[in-house]
Amino acid sequence: MLAEHITRGALESRLFDVCLIGAGPAGITLATELGARGQSVLLLEAGGASYEESSQAMYEGEVVGALKFALDTSRLRYLGGASNHWGGFCQALDAVDFESKVAGVDTEWPIRRRHLDPYLARAEAIVEIPAFTPDRPYGEQLRLTTMRFSPPVNFATKYRGMLEKMPNVATILQACVLNLHERDGAIVSVEITDPDNGRHTARARRFVLCAGGIENSRMLLWANQQNGGRVVRDPRALGRYWLEHPHFTIGEAFLDDRAPFVFDKWSIAWASPTAQAIRDARALNAGLRLTRRNRESSRQMIADLSCVAPELGQWAMAKLKRRLFCGAMLRASWEQAPRAWNRVTLSTDRDRHGTPRAELHWRLDDFDRHTVASAATLLAEAILRRGDGRVRLDPWVLGRGSFPADDEIKGNHHMGGTRMSSSSATGVVDADCKVHGLSNLYVAGSSVFPSGGAANPTLTIVQLALRLADRLGERASAASVL
Ligand SMILES: Cc1cc2nc3c(=O)[nH]c(=O)nc-3n(C[C@H](O)[C@H](O)[C@H](O)COP(=O)(O)OP(=O)(O)OC[C@H]3O[C@@H](n4cnc5c(N)ncnc54)[C@H](O)[C@@H]3O)c2cc1C
Repeated sequence: MLAEHITRGALESRLFDVCLIGAGPAGITLATELGARGQSVLLLEAGGASYEESSQAMYEGEVVGALKFALDTSRLRYLGGASNHWGGFCQALDAVDFESKVAGVDTEWPIRRRHLDPYLARAEAIVEIPAFTPDRPYGEQLRLTTMRFSPPVNFATKYRGMLEKMPNVATILQACVLNLHERDGAIVSVEITDPDNGRHTARARRFVLCAGGIENSRMLLWANQQNGGRVVRDPRALGRYWLEHPHFTIGEAFLDDRAPFVFDKWSIAWASPTAQAIRDARALNAGLRLTRRNRESSRQMIADLSCVAPELGQWAMAKLKRRLFCGAMLRASWEQAPRAWNRVTLSTDRDRHGTPRAELHWRLDDFDRHTVASAATLLAEAILRRGDGRVRLDPWVLGRGSFPADDEIKGNHHMGGTRMSSSSATGVVDADCKVHGLSNLYVAGSSVFPSGGAANPTLTIVQLALRLADRLGERASAASVL
């Protein structure tokens, strides 16, 4: 069933198998999976069925750092979460993304890609993308990758009907979780508020935070404060190692028509360094995008080039005239290094329920520039060496100047903050997404990613949610046997 509002007294007498907090891709995937296994599920969603200013305002917060973006427009606070406006670009993480790549840069997951592979086909079906096509080599150090496009699936539109029909899944909208109550090493209940500021309590055997890549940290930080530090007992990593995929234009390319790049429906060809090239460069993963320009725009690019490199410009123009050439914008979205200082903290400013707002401390450093410069240089050299054209990189990529603040900057991929680690010193959840030191609190979503690779996160979020549903299912059957 699905209720648009919480009814006074309706929850207090019940004990659910699982309480899920947040109905975006992570929460909805868990709800439908656990519901199909016969578990009694309570799915609490802070927002309503559609966009409302008053709900969205709860997401306002501040980014501290030179590269600013708005916290309230980079996610959505209603049924379906950010899937109401995601782009649908999907890639799976590479095997190397789960490993340590560079000494002193902690990218290692406590699981490997093979632990998520069994969930790939089902995750692909959920986001409605075709099966994976293998990468093609481009020289020794690069591979041409494929982006797969979800329609994009809106999780509210696709799954609302199913949630309404499932008798054992209670989905309640306008139900914002304010606090978790801890007793003897377990969460026993959550405190909920409705839009009229009425207070309610819900009890469950297990709880999963699915509130998104900033709210999961914010909620745990605030719950920890309200519970005297007994929710995340070792808070050293809580809120920290927050990550984005930096998104910037890094230069331009002039490509021979015989070059083996395949342009997709967005006129983009994708490339990434191989695992060995990443290790050799002592850098992290990167996704390079060549966006093909039309002839008029290519002509303008060559005219601009002629001002700084007349010979190259003439050569390119001669080829363009013979229709042997096109211009391409070179962009990159890459793996940011996990750093403890990039973190979600609680602001002194509060929302209308009295919860401290999120304050996000986020900056890119020279290592992040090194990652993109390494990958871009490999591509530029390979294109030149193979006679496929020429690449010009922007000066800031090569170390002259800082990251341009007027670019896209980020991909709205909020990762880290409650990262997965085998030790509570360096992570908040264990390999099963369970909060270290508590018996029944879990986290779902990209906040558990210890590192982000170069892949857009939602496919991995769905894989992890399916895996967590298996874990919660196993624990439920073990409990019923006992
Ligand atoms: C503009 C944009 C474009 C994007 N494009 C892509 C893309 O192309 N590919 C890709 O892979 N990813 C993309 N993303 C990211 C993608 O949308 C997210 O990875 C995904 O939505 C995260 O799912 P989630 O369920 O973890 O969190 P969310 O989608 O953020 O859902 C969290 C839910 O929790 C609810 N909630 C929050 N606080 C509370 C509370 N206190 N109590 C109860 N409920 C609460 C929220 O209302 C929300 O419904 C994009 C994001 C944006 C903003």
